[in-house]
Amino acid sequence: MSLFKSKNNPAPVAQNNSSQFADVALRMISEAVIMTNRAGVIQYLNPAAVTMTGCKAPENVYGLDYGLLIRIETKEGRELPEAENPLLQATRTGQPLDNYECVMIQAGSDKRLPVAISVIPVPGLSGGFILTLRDITKELAEEGEQTEFISTASHEMRTPVASIEGYLSLALNPQTATIDERARGYLTSAHTAAQHLGKLFRDLLDTTKLDDGHIRPNFVPTEMIGAVKQISDDFIVRMREAKLNYRFGSTDPTGAAGGLRLDQVVYGFVDPNFLREIIDNLLDNALKYTPAGGSVYVGVLGDGDRVLINVTDTGVGISSTDLQHIFQKFYRADNSDTREIGGTGLGLYITKQRVEAMGGRIWAESAFGEGTTFYVSLPRLSAEEYEKRSIALRNAAQAPPTQPVQPTPNNITQGGIVK
Ligand code: ADP
Repeated sequence: MSLFKSKNNPAPVAQNNSSQFADVALRMISEAVIMTNRAGVIQYLNPAAVTMTGCKAPENVYGLDYGLLIRIETKEGRELPEAENPLLQATRTGQPLDNYECVMIQAGSDKRLPVAISVIPVPGLSGGFILTLRDITKELAEEGEQTEFISTASHEMRTPVASIEGYLSLALNPQTATIDERARGYLTSAHTAAQHLGKLFRDLLDTTKLDDGHIRPNFVPTEMIGAVKQISDDFIVRMREAKLNYRFGSTDPTGAAGGLRLDQVVYGFVDPNFLREIIDNLLDNALKYTPAGGSVYVGVLGDGDRVLINVTDTGVGISSTDLQHIFQKFYRADNSDTREIGGTGLGLYITKQRVEAMGGRIWAESAFGEGTTFYVSLPRLSAEEYEKRSIALRNAAQAPPTQPVQPTPNNITQGGIVK
């Protein structure tokens, strides 16, 4: 069926050259393309979409909700409840979704196919969405081989690097070695480089463990405002040393625009270690990329069935070109502000994996030279669900669950330079 003669749109429109090219291109490409209206009702599928989704009679799916055709689960084979389904979230909120890797359950056969899904909202009066699906079976197999190699290599190299780091520390310690000032300068540089290498191998191992599915989240019902505040307040000393203004509970210097609502108690179902790593990584970056005198704000809001965490800084910012790539493995923006700052380009990749493993989404908004906000959206639990899961966990572990920390004006860090 032609894009321009669908069941719901029998009259040919815009039969000019470019629309014919678009039609041919859509028929030729191996990516599945599905177009829906604003309500998610399917208006068009290209031939690749028909094959990939396994829908035997494409005419029958026109007019159906796309959710009936594209059923997904996580890469680990976990079912995705509505609140955790990034595809549904994207079409509900109108936020784009970029290359979300998951497994699609094919219509009819129930066969599983690993795919990367993107959702692009179509602006304008008619609205609607373009969904693209890419078969990533081959990519995953190649990645698996790569992962195994990187995992073995970094594991083997970690030990000699730790030993180099240890000996350099001994050489630099006046109690264990006597060296002249020039040698101290050289050895200090070598020590910094060895530490960087050690961090790179640790990050690489973490990455490969996640890629392999070796690290699975250990979900715990959690009161989110208290949990995030506890993690981010651990940065107070480093913020002070870096001469940064830190405030918990806001998205801007006045504290007025969102970030925290005192009348809210926000529950989530998260892995506490993953949550710590996520906030740590985002705050590490905020610290690294915000010059002295700048500000860093952290907030937690209940937003419908989601928990929305923001880590905002007034630092160097990220250009729109770099913004599209920062969650990729080893990507580092290359400009005069960031060139001098050390890093591996793995922090945000690991962070994104941790967020997605908990059914969440992460994205960033930034103005180059002005600052950046990272948003993490995680599934939210109702108070009843929180109670139910806490009791289930207590029964399973025979141990009391963590007590919810109610947000009060006293447990919110007040603004100004942290003293
Ligand atoms: P790195 O180890 O290089 O910091 P990340 O994966 O954590 O690696 O970040 C990737 C890149 O994204 C960084 O090199 C930097 O260019 C950019 N970036 C991340 N966070 C920020 C931020 N808060 N402000 C400006 N740039 C950032």
